[in-house]
Amino acid sequence: MKNEDVLKHADDVEKNWMLAKGKNELIKHLRGERLSSTDAIKAKCYECMGGYGDDKIDCGVTICPLHPIMPYNENKRAGRIVSEETKKKASDRFKEMWAKKKAGEEGKNGNGGAGDNE
Ligand code: SF4
Repeated sequence: MKNEDVLKHADDVEKNWMLAKGKNELIKHLRGERLSSTDAIKAKCYECMGGYGDDKIDCGVTICPLHPIMPYNENKRAGRIVSEETKKKASDRFKEMWAKKKAGEEGKNGNGGAGDNE
């Protein structure tokens, strides 16, 4: 698509497409402005849904990698479903990391302050 066609498309979106999450972000993108990752996702979903012409609803395309964070996904705030086993593993890793960090700090403090004379 030529640049002037892209700018015409931006004008079309601005004038004729429905106001919904991602509209302003898509227009910014089409006009060459840089977007954050979050704004790029909003813009992509807005475009993918044809400007939400049918309604501001969840696309329901659960195989899309953006679906968990799609602006109108009602379950997006529910977060990931994490098993108890996974939570325990993460907790154990976190405790181990802190224990190593604490041991390292005690080692620094226990060496007579060797770094103090530099
Ligand atoms: S989450 Fe849905 S609307 Fe967004 S890009 Fe994927 S399929 Fe399109």
